[in-house]
Amino acid sequence: MRSILPNSTIGVFGSGQLGRMFAIEARKMGYRVHTFSPDNDTPTGQVADFETSAEYEDLDAVKKFARSVDVVTFEFENVPSKTVEAAAEFVEVYPKGEILHTTQNRLREKTFLKKHNFPHTPFRHIKTLDDLYHAVQSLGTPAVLKTAGFGYDGKGQQRIKAVGEVENAFEKLKGNEAVLEAFVEFEKEVSVVCARDRKGNFAHYGVIENDHENHILDISFAPAVCSEKVFAEAVEIARSVAETLDYVGTLCVEFFLGADGKLLINELAPRPHNSGHLTFDACVTSQFEQQLRAVCGLPLGSTEFYKPCAMANLLGDIWETQEPNWANALQNPNVKLHLYGKSEARKGRKMGHLTAIGETIEEAVKTVKTARENLLR
Ligand code: AMP
Repeated sequence: MRSILPNSTIGVFGSGQLGRMFAIEARKMGYRVHTFSPDNDTPTGQVADFETSAEYEDLDAVKKFARSVDVVTFEFENVPSKTVEAAAEFVEVYPKGEILHTTQNRLREKTFLKKHNFPHTPFRHIKTLDDLYHAVQSLGTPAVLKTAGFGYDGKGQQRIKAVGEVENAFEKLKGNEAVLEAFVEFEKEVSVVCARDRKGNFAHYGVIENDHENHILDISFAPAVCSEKVFAEAVEIARSVAETLDYVGTLCVEFFLGADGKLLINELAPRPHNSGHLTFDACVTSQFEQQLRAVCGLPLGSTEFYKPCAMANLLGDIWETQEPNWANALQNPNVKLHLYGKSEARKGRKMGHLTAIGETIEEAVKTVKTARENLLR
């Protein structure tokens, strides 16, 4: 297993903000970056050395790309399995294609969690209307119906509040396979962003606390407010998931935390995650650099936090009336601005984020929220 050293080229499937921040870290360390996605002038492409714009199904283009890079990783988990397999004929791909296959589909992911006894939200597999009736009866209401594939930020999700809503909800699936989940009355949502290298070494950023608005991450801060027991359990679950998957790269395990201290895995993200963006400004090694080190066979870096930190997402909504007032948001010198280079600001679209460090979590959260409000002044 040779190490991939600086000046080598890292191939990245996907071209969004995660790839952009990965590319920034890779270029900082003297690597070249080649991004592959169907789009042009993308957040990743703008900072990469090379940008291929081709469909993921265009296997000739995929093979050409794979031949031109030294290792492949991804920032987008919905890359088709065939694409990853075609690339893997020529070059090593991390995390492995099988992991992508498992985590890009809620049913496969939940089946994996169940099989290995990881705590997870109770669920049922839905193929027919009858399945849905039975599942609602056994899990109770409210329940959450989610399409098995291509879901993120609450997309493809419906809340079912009563049996009377079953037929309508089933129709909206339009024939797509789905899972029904019990609705979890959680106290808070937390995540563990971690990394595992090719030798099996593991590093983590502790527990990060996440607040969502309309199913989209709004604010993250670290460290999360939770007991030492919950902290240790969450990290141990993440470590065990990474090991069971024989994971290489940065992984995020998202949890629901109940008032009784019980942790349930909501989702796995086989890549750097929005809740880990704050590691860019607050840690010795960011989640993106960690991904780079892991896939290149370099030692993982320190995950130490310089200070408590908070992150606020910037959605397209804030462009609705006028260009945000950037100077105003940056009045406080502890605030950092990240914009992803997306030209069109659509409602709900992640356009950038702000991070703030503070002496306490409360101070960091207050600073980042004030900065975001100041954008609109
Ligand atoms: P997901 O795309 O599955 O991560 O869901 C997005 C958000 O919807 C989560 O972060 C939760 O805030 C909420 N959510 C999803 N599933 C459930 C559930 N089973 N019970 C309660 N809230 C949920």
